Amino acid sequence: MGVITIPQLADNYAYLVVDESSNDAAVVDCAQAQPILEEVNRRGLRLIAVLSTHWHADHTGGNLELASKVQGLRIYGARAEGGRIPGLTDPVDDGDQIKVGNLRAQVLGIPAHTNGHVAYYFPALKALFCGDTLFVAGCGRVFEGRAATMVASLSKLASLPDDTQVFCGHEYTEKNLAFALTVEPGNEALRKKYEWAKAQRQQNKPTIPSTIGEEKQTNPFLRLHSPEIRAVLKRLDPQLSDDPVAIFAKLREMKDHF
Ligand code: ZN
Ligand code: FE
Repeated sequence: MGVITIPQLADNYAYLVVDESSNDAAVVDCAQAQPILEEVNRRGLRLIAVLSTHWHADHTGGNLELASKVQGLRIYGARAEGGRIPGLTDPVDDGDQIKVGNLRAQVLGIPAHTNGHVAYYFPALKALFCGDTLFVAGCGRVFEGRAATMVASLSKLASLPDDTQVFCGHEYTEKNLAFALTVEPGNEALRKKYEWAKAQRQQNKPTIPSTIGEEKQTNPFLRLHSPEIRAVLKRLDPQLSDDPVAIFAKLREMKDHF
């Protein structure tokens, strides 16, 4: 078990991270409290913490209700979000270590979607919770940072071990893969993943987790060096430079209008 996926709203995911040695659990991002509380009760877990990745309401809208119903609940989130995370009790910074029961997580600062966006990385579970920064075959919109900030945040995540499982904030995979194929149609791994994702979604199954290794093979935003992607983008914009940040910015702009 370790990680339990709980759909929220139209296409968000919340995740319960469970320390099986103590039955302590934390929820990563919560838009709606009720489904989380039901799952916790059904499994006989003890909810001790909320781990917020960033301040947006589709990731934190359930915080206050959880806090009002669970005694002693801790709510972690980035200090750099500047007080916008509802119910925050434990501000965290890049490099901090936190504990869920006997499980340890590292806080990774990965700004750009928001200024204080963080990921939670549990080495023992080989699990990364990255909110709206890295998606399966995509990345979050750059709302509060610059393209260069997002490139740095994504490469920080890409430097984790290949077998790290990627649990992201939204089910955007099918559309992301469709876009990815327009910029890298010759990528065989990408083609296969698209067929797989379509089949998963037809059966109403999630496409998460992915892995860092798979993302490096298929996610255009982690493949800024790909000769095919560069060639496709330069056909559209002959002035485009080889600078990875420029390639990223062009890809992000194309995806925004896809
Ligand atoms: Zn967001
Ligand atoms: Fe979101």
